[in-house]
Amino acid sequence: MSPQMNRPERVVVVGASLAGARAAHSIRAAGHDCALTLIGAESHLPYDRPPLSKEFLTGEREAHQLMLDADGAYDELDVEVMLGTAAVGLDLENRTVAVAPAANGSASGDSRATVPFDALVIATGAAARPLPRTEGIEGVHTLRTLDDSTAIRDGLVAGARVAVVGGGFIGSEVAASAKVRGCEVTVIEAASAPLVRGLGAEMGTRVGALHNQNGVELRLGVGVEGVLGSDRVEAVAMADGSRIEADLVVVGIGVVPNTGWLEGSGLQIDNGVVCDATLCCGPQGVYAVGDVARAPNGWLAPLYGESPIRVEHWTAAVEHGMAVGRNLMAPDEAQPYDSVPFVWSDQYDARIQVAGHPDADDDVEVLVGSAADVSDTGRSFLAGYRRDGRLSAVMALDSIRPFVRFRRLLAGHPTWDEALELAATLR
Ligand SMILES: Cc1cc2nc3c(=O)[nH]c(=O)nc-3n(C[C@H](O)[C@H](O)[C@H](O)COP(=O)(O)OP(=O)(O)OC[C@H]3O[C@@H](n4cnc5c(N)ncnc54)[C@H](O)[C@@H]3O)c2cc1C
Repeated sequence: MSPQMNRPERVVVVGASLAGARAAHSIRAAGHDCALTLIGAESHLPYDRPPLSKEFLTGEREAHQLMLDADGAYDELDVEVMLGTAAVGLDLENRTVAVAPAANGSASGDSRATVPFDALVIATGAAARPLPRTEGIEGVHTLRTLDDSTAIRDGLVAGARVAVVGGGFIGSEVAASAKVRGCEVTVIEAASAPLVRGLGAEMGTRVGALHNQNGVELRLGVGVEGVLGSDRVEAVAMADGSRIEADLVVVGIGVVPNTGWLEGSGLQIDNGVVCDATLCCGPQGVYAVGDVARAPNGWLAPLYGESPIRVEHWTAAVEHGMAVGRNLMAPDEAQPYDSVPFVWSDQYDARIQVAGHPDADDDVEVLVGSAADVSDTGRSFLAGYRRDGRLSAVMALDSIRPFVRFRRLLAGHPTWDEALELAATLR
C-alpha cells in the first residue's frame, strides 16, 4: 500500500467500458499523474452500448463509429490498457487484483497474474441474463456486447421471423430495429404491458402501443417455457402451450451485475457492489461505478430514503466515472452523488425520455399533450408521476422541449402544484 493513501500512486480500473473509461479520464482531468491501468475482459477498446440495439442493429452506424475515444487517446492519457483480460479475484489485504486471459469476455481461468494497486475502481458493469436451457442453441442471443449485436445483426435478414423475449427498453428497441430490417417480429412479455418496470403499467401500455402501430405483434401476459430446436432454434414454447415460430430469438430479460470476481473479497455484494454516497465500497481507496455499483443518490433521498440503488443508465455511468476521479484523488473532500436520474430510449421513430424515478405506486397524469392513443397524429406528450404530493418523475414521448424544462424543475423536488404550473405554461 502506498504510504500516502490520499495520493494513490497506482490506480487500477477494472472494466473498460463507459464508467471505467470516464473514471480514467476524470483522474487525468483532475491533474493526477499516478500509474493508471485499465483492465477489460472484452477485446475492444471502450465503446458505446446504446447504439447496439438501435443504429448499429439497423446498419446506420458501424463498429468504428461506436468507439468512445479517438485513436491513441489512452496513449495520450498515459493509461496502460489491458484488453482481453478478466479480473478473477480481489485481495484487499495485499491490494492486488488477480487477472487471467479472457475468452469471449469471460475469464478462461488460465495463467493468473496479479496487478497491484493503491486505489481501485470497480467498473465491471452487468451481463445480460440468459434464458435458461438455451445454451448452445444457434439463433438464440442475448444483447450486451458489440459481438452480441454483430451476431444478431447478421441474422436480421428481410423476412426472418424474430421473437424478442422481454418487452423492456432493450427488447423494444431490438424489435423496432428488426422491423426496420424487414423482419417479422413478435415481442413476448410476461407482464400486462411492455416497459412496465421502467414506466409503470399505464405508460407502458401507451408507449407499448408503438409496437402494434408499427406492425410488430405483441404477446402479453404469458410466460416463456423455453425454446424448441436441437442445434438451431425453431420456435419459442409458451407457457400456455402455444408456440411462436422463430428463425432468431433475442432475449432481453434483464441483467446480472458482474460481481463474481469479487466473491470472498470481503466487499458487500448484494445486487451489485454496495457503496456509500461517495461511491466508496468501504475499504479506503476502493470505489465502484456504473451499472455494477449500488449507491445512494442524494436526489432520491427525500422521496425514497437513503437506500442504495443500482441503475442501468448511461448518464449515471458517466457521472459516476467523473465523480470517482475527484473523490478517489481527494477523499477528504469527496462529494456525495446527487443527480436526477435520466434514461432515454429510441423505438421506431419515437424518442422516449425519463427523468426522476418512476415507481409502480406513483399516480401518473399526462401534463402536456395528449396520450389517449399514441397512434394519434401529434402523439407527443409528457406525463408526470406523483408521489407524496411531489413530482417524482416525468416521462416524455417525442416531447423534447417540455422534457428539458421538467428535468430542470425536478432537480429542486417540485410539488405537484409547481409541476402543474409549469405544464400550464407549456400547453
Ligand atoms: C444494447 C444496450 C442499449 C442501451 N441503451 C441505452 C439507452 O438508450 N439509454 C441509456 O441510458 N442506457 C442504455 N444502455 C445502458 C448503458 O449502456 C449502460 O448503463 C452502460 O453501458 C453502463 O456502463 P458500465 O461501464 O457501468 O458497464 P458496461 O458497459 O457493462 O461495461 C462493463 C465492462 O466491464 C467488463 N468486465 C466485466 N467483468 C469483468 C472482469 N471480471 N474483468 C475485466 N473486465 C470485466 C465488461 O466486459 C464490460 O466491457 C444500453 C445498454 C445496452 C446493452
